[in-house]
Amino acid sequence: MRYGRLAGPGTVVLEERPEPSPGDGEVTVSLAACGVCGTDLEKLRGNYRTAGVLGHEPVGRVARVGTGVTGVAVGDRVFVHHHVPCYSCEVCARGDYTFCPNYSKTNIDPGGFAETFRVPRENVERHAILKLDPKVDWDAGALLEPAGCALTAIHRVGLPDRATVLVLGLGPVGLLYARLARALGATWVGGTEISALRRAAAERGGIDLTLDPRDEAAVRAAVEGATHGRGVDLAVVATGHPSVARAATELVRRGGTVNLFGLPEAGSRLDADLQDLYLRGVRVVPSYATTEPEIAEVHRLVVSGALSISDLVTHRVPLERIADAFRLAGRPEEAVKVTVTGPAAG
Ligand SMILES: [Zn+2]
Ligand SMILES: [Zn+2]
Repeated sequence: MRYGRLAGPGTVVLEERPEPSPGDGEVTVSLAACGVCGTDLEKLRGNYRTAGVLGHEPVGRVARVGTGVTGVAVGDRVFVHHHVPCYSCEVCARGDYTFCPNYSKTNIDPGGFAETFRVPRENVERHAILKLDPKVDWDAGALLEPAGCALTAIHRVGLPDRATVLVLGLGPVGLLYARLARALGATWVGGTEISALRRAAAERGGIDLTLDPRDEAAVRAAVEGATHGRGVDLAVVATGHPSVARAATELVRRGGTVNLFGLPEAGSRLDADLQDLYLRGVRVVPSYATTEPEIAEVHRLVVSGALSISDLVTHRVPLERIADAFRLAGRPEEAVKVTVTGPAAG
């Protein structure tokens, strides 16, 4: 079978390898689609300090089931989560599951951009396989993981009643965050984004106001207008640029929260006025990744119709053209979310 992997900086290639077979307690899945995430692009650029496995937003059909597996059967339409916490360490005991030291050691094999991938026993046992409701199409399914990341972030920061939220950076995860904040009761949600295509996707999803961040005065005026001059309750940094993180600290209200949500550039520093943060009581809260309860909650929101996300997938590219999919995903004026499709997509 074929799968996509990193072959040095800036290069993703398709390679042949034997199809994985499920061991005891394991499952293999035939790929329908897997989203290209911003972190996949950062791995390609060599800007992400993790192992180079690509593809972590896969949906597909169960191909084979190892002995002892219950609850899923061959042919089931499923989403698979690549990382699972151990639920037994000190970090997990405090509820900080995605920061579990074992979390990112777990993974699907050989990644999500593969005709067939193997789901290890620990992922199966810890409920990382979610059966998709018939109402959830492959596009929405491939967005469950990034949407789960947004929900995990919202839970970490806490969304106040009648919240005002500004999302800085309307890439796919920023758009999902903005739509979730709206679905969960935020009264005003604004967004900043350079790409007109992505601003339009936000407006289609009911976001109140979108702005080009290069017009800093307009952004400031819009936030002041929407919040009686106070600043937003929550400013979400959904991009990796440190200058955007600084801008976020200046747009939140007294006692408000800046959520570091996008993967920051490696080695970047927060260049903020620390005395201002101190005197205004601004919290800076990072959030990374997600776990099964949030993914299941997002799935329920999609099934109920409270959250609509499928339209964010603008391009579906077959696995044999994975390099094109990566190029496209890196062009915000042309694409919102790009998925790589596999043999089960039909
Ligand atoms: Zn991702
Ligand atoms: Zn743990």
